[in-house]
Amino acid sequence: MRDDVQQLLSLQKIDQTIQSLNKELVKIPQQQEAAKERLANDTAAVAAAKKAYQENEVAIKNVELDIGTRKDTVTKLKNQQFETKKNEEYTRLGSEVTRYEEQIDEFETQELELMEVADQRKSDIATAEEALGKTQTLVDEEISGLEARATQFKEQLAEAESQRAQAADGLEEDLMDTYNRLYDKREGAAVAAVTRERSCKSCHVQVTPATYALAQSGAAISHCDNCGAILYPE
Ligand SMILES: [Zn+2]
Repeated sequence: MRDDVQQLLSLQKIDQTIQSLNKELVKIPQQQEAAKERLANDTAAVAAAKKAYQENEVAIKNVELDIGTRKDTVTKLKNQQFETKKNEEYTRLGSEVTRYEEQIDEFETQELELMEVADQRKSDIATAEEALGKTQTLVDEEISGLEARATQFKEQLAEAESQRAQAADGLEEDLMDTYNRLYDKREGAAVAAVTRERSCKSCHVQVTPATYALAQSGAAISHCDNCGAILYPE
């Protein structure tokens, strides 16, 4: 194999490494976002539990207001009862008082039930927060793991790039241009082996005997007749 083709082959290996590292690096922020999205469900569950608790608190407040207004009414009715001199009025006010006191009893029962619900809601919040905490820990671990990977890839990339500069050193500019153009066009297969059966390993088309002979002799750079890849004998 010609020295310059050998050198291009080394360069191509480094370029393939750089390309795959860049691909991996692009994926990392996407993977981190996907990890964060896993928190969304648990965060929503905590919010829903808190909302349910708040709604119940409002219901308790309303019941307390209902009890309060009825207690005020009972006080008023009892005052009226104390002041009246009519028996009939006294009895009527007495039954009103009883009616309101029964309502107060009902509301107080409701309040107790709502307070039990409040305890349940509080424990629902704790359960949801615990689940969120666990997911958060896992997601944090995943994100920091991905960050560590990114750091590793960046180090490998910097190393590959310095290797690339060394590998490209001394190559003719025209040959480099041809290689770079072919690398992009042939998706990383600018330099390819040609088999004994004269098959180009970049495009799998058979080259002419003259092209094959040139690749073997190395008298000049041999290009695949079909795809233009720089050939070397297998
Ligand atoms: Zn080819």
